[in-house]
Amino acid sequence: MSGCIFCRISRGEIPSRKVYEDDEILAFHDLNPQRPVHFLIIPKRHISTLYDVSADDQELLGRMLTRAAEMARSQGLDDGFRTIVNTGRVGGQEVYHLHIHIMGGADSVGPMVSALK
Ligand code: 5GP
Ligand code: ZN
Repeated sequence: MSGCIFCRISRGEIPSRKVYEDDEILAFHDLNPQRPVHFLIIPKRHISTLYDVSADDQELLGRMLTRAAEMARSQGLDDGFRTIVNTGRVGGQEVYHLHIHIMGGADSVGPMVSALK
């Protein structure tokens, strides 16, 4: 996915403020943070959405989640954080490269979802 913005970040073609990197995953601060600390964990390999994962991706997805708390602590989040994966149009996904949002750094992240209007 040559034009995908997160593929370009994972290839280093677009700069990002890195939180964590290994051979399969990358975490970097969100460009437009919604909370004092807001970063994204992505697989380096392009996967568009949670609709597109398969059994072959279990190890990769497990790696993203099992590293999350350690990454959060490295950013000072030692009293909790919010973990969000937006999927598709209804889920409000804007970038179609799978990512986990990690947010915190305020006394509370706030309600899980806002009321439907
Ligand atoms: P989504 O709505 O798809 O779950 O979230 C996409 C997130 O990616 C948004 O929070 C947005 O601020 C962030 N984002 C979009 N483009 C860039 C970029 O070029 N660099 C970084 N660091 N974050 C980005
Ligand atoms: Zn991509």
